[in-house]
Amino acid sequence: MKITDLKCTIIGKNPVIRIVTDEDISGYAEIEPSKQYIKPHVMFYKPFIIGEDPTNVERVMMKIRRLGSFKPWGSAVSAIEMALWDIAGKASGLPVYKLLGGKVRDKVRVYNGGVRPPLKGFSPEDYAENVLQMKKAREGFTIIKQAIGFHGGMLASLPGSFYGEVRKGRFHPNRGLLTERGLNHILECVKAMKDVLGEDVGLALDCGPGFVVPSAIRLARALEPLNVMWLEDMITGDYIPYVLPDVYREVTRATSTPIHTGEQIYLRQNFKDLIEMHAVDIIGPDPCDVGGIAELKWIAEFADLHDILIAPHGIGDGLIGLAALVQVSATLPSNYIAFEYPVGDPKWWYDIVDGLPDPIVKDGFIEVWDKPGLGVELNEKRARRYLPEGDDFFD
Ligand SMILES: [Mg+2]
Repeated sequence: MKITDLKCTIIGKNPVIRIVTDEDISGYAEIEPSKQYIKPHVMFYKPFIIGEDPTNVERVMMKIRRLGSFKPWGSAVSAIEMALWDIAGKASGLPVYKLLGGKVRDKVRVYNGGVRPPLKGFSPEDYAENVLQMKKAREGFTIIKQAIGFHGGMLASLPGSFYGEVRKGRFHPNRGLLTERGLNHILECVKAMKDVLGEDVGLALDCGPGFVVPSAIRLARALEPLNVMWLEDMITGDYIPYVLPDVYREVTRATSTPIHTGEQIYLRQNFKDLIEMHAVDIIGPDPCDVGGIAELKWIAEFADLHDILIAPHGIGDGLIGLAALVQVSATLPSNYIAFEYPVGDPKWWYDIVDGLPDPIVKDGFIEVWDKPGLGVELNEKRARRYLPEGDDFFD
């Protein structure tokens, strides 16, 4: 089998890629909706993979893996990797989890994720009301993640919450030492959420990036009695092109609250120090940024050797990304906690992707399916109407 073409289009908000072969089998993968600018970056890799046998996934990846980088510049390589596995599975008639070593669990736990009503404000009452809605969601999530601190608008909206000038704009631009007011506000909001969730639903907190070490340690220690699941991305994180494991280690060693990072990190090499130094308790690579699902599997195994847990990121990965997350999460060792549940947005995505169970999530879990490849298929007939005019994606 040979790769004959690589295509990329935008369906709704998400870039979608298709690897075409000479045997009437195509592989598909999806990229976060915030990365529509990535299409030409996907096409950059086309000459590297044309003519290669897509079922030799690693051999193809060796040609392109070194030509990517941290989020968002790992997305194209990651999407190609997942589309290759989709082809390899379809060609062999096996679900991708079999090709990754077989499943170790029949259902995978997910955490929320993408089922998320908008926050009405940044008061403790607003946070409590928001997580109550998520707790009532029909998916029955057993873990809910909420944005606090520098992630989202909390601190930027509270004057005098940190020692620094408030910057506006995308991707968490603020950083600085918390004031006592800022610290107390975070604590009040977290307490309000814990009062709603109780022991039934775990609370994970996405915090930054933007904390400095003294604030990170103070917050993590103050939260110890509340038993939150983890504090995510306090130091580095989303859209930060480096890791700083030595700084993370300072925080992690100082508290019993689990510390988590890794959604933006590209490739196993960039997890090496984080894991070997025990710099965090939990890592959260995203298969659509880290370099793909086999890359994520390798990192999970290496983390397990060091007794570090894994909760993969995935909120923007769309429904094809969801399928990839299910396949790889079924194969991960027992350091697996849950992956972050992505949704189809707009809702018509559920009409153009075939193969998903209905409902997808039951009591916080997804049953692992057995269809070949990633096990979902873009319905060409129904998806065509959402292609940009004149796009030859399916031709
Ligand atoms: Mg995050």
